[in-house]
Amino acid sequence: MGGIAVSGREALFPNYAPFFSARLVKGKGSKVWDENGREYLDLMSGIAVTGLGHAPDAVKQALIDQLENLWHVSNLFEIPGQEKLASMLAEAGCADLAFFCNSGAEANEAAIKLARRYNRKVLGNNRYEIIAFQSSFHGRTLATLTATGQDKVKDGFDPLPAGFVHVEYNNLEALEAAINDRTCAIIMEFVQGEGGVNPAGPAFAAGVKRLCEKHGLLLIADEIQTGIGRTGQMFGYQHYGVEPDIITLAKGLGSGFPIGAMLGKAFLRDGFSAGSHGSTFGGTPIACSAAIATLETMKREELPKRAARLGTEGMLRLRAALADHPELVSVRGLGLLIGIELASPVTDIVMAAQKEGLLVITAGPNVIRLLPALTIGEDEWFGGLDALAGIILKSKNGVAV
Ligand SMILES: *Cc1c(COP(=O)(O)O)cnc(C)c1O
Repeated sequence: MGGIAVSGREALFPNYAPFFSARLVKGKGSKVWDENGREYLDLMSGIAVTGLGHAPDAVKQALIDQLENLWHVSNLFEIPGQEKLASMLAEAGCADLAFFCNSGAEANEAAIKLARRYNRKVLGNNRYEIIAFQSSFHGRTLATLTATGQDKVKDGFDPLPAGFVHVEYNNLEALEAAINDRTCAIIMEFVQGEGGVNPAGPAFAAGVKRLCEKHGLLLIADEIQTGIGRTGQMFGYQHYGVEPDIITLAKGLGSGFPIGAMLGKAFLRDGFSAGSHGSTFGGTPIACSAAIATLETMKREELPKRAARLGTEGMLRLRAALADHPELVSVRGLGLLIGIELASPVTDIVMAAQKEGLLVITAGPNVIRLLPALTIGEDEWFGGLDALAGIILKSKNGVAV
């Protein structure tokens, strides 16, 4: 017996409510085109994924070369691409070891498992609790949605795994009060992405690290949105002068080819042993080739530096353009992860921008979020910001005209 014959969107579970009406069929650089040939300027990069723009030549060529040779063999074999990618990631930050998977949620899931298992098996204690922050986002698996500090992702999914607590972000006292003899780790985004583009304060970030050292806790940096150059450094934590013990990556790592990674410091090595964790697709030769070419391009073209400059100049330009708008709350962010908060919901403005050929997204109800490719042309970037500012200036109570 088959299912009932359905077609179009009816054949899909309704968990996505597509926001945009454009049906996109082609992309190059920071431009995408819909099925009617209409062109759009992409300032969202598939939610921080296509950091090198669409179909970047170096990654495309690496994928084509790999497709000619070997697609998949399983982790029962040594995969040379994993070793090369791991050492490139180690060189880019403070971590020494890598585990590869396919998504952000899986990377955070691995981090949670490593934090618990390291405490159990290496330190020989029974600490398992992880402190996360309100408004955070860490993924959609049962453990990572439990870690996420937003009720809407948990609705209807209980019972949830035990061992997660939440405290207010940028509130060091609340954090210290939540630490107890079960706590094993703190997971944080150095800039909360989905939660509204909220950067950690410098004193808060330093304080989190100090508390981790004082209480013997692991610091897990969720760099899934902030990583791979987006904030103006390879990793967001690098703005703060603190080192996490574990780093999680996905989104921008493969330029649109799915790959996630959990990185850890060398002392965590024995937290995992043969057979303790794994993934069929994690770190396939194809995925590794995309990520290696992505990192090589980042380095060759000094894209984090470019993201820092374009982000700083872009935020100044937005603040100047929107200074007289009565509903502007703030323009904030780090590098090319930028939020424009207004006093009212911004959905209508985001829809109006699409109509004008400009793709941006929200981050919570009142924040317009910009995540352009790090390779975006200067004219595209500043022209896009001026056009967006024009749409915002014409809006009243969140309604675009
Ligand atoms: C997107 C995101 C995730 C989840 O990544 P998926 O690939 O969707 O599982 C986790 N953490 C942060 C900070 C993210 O932005």
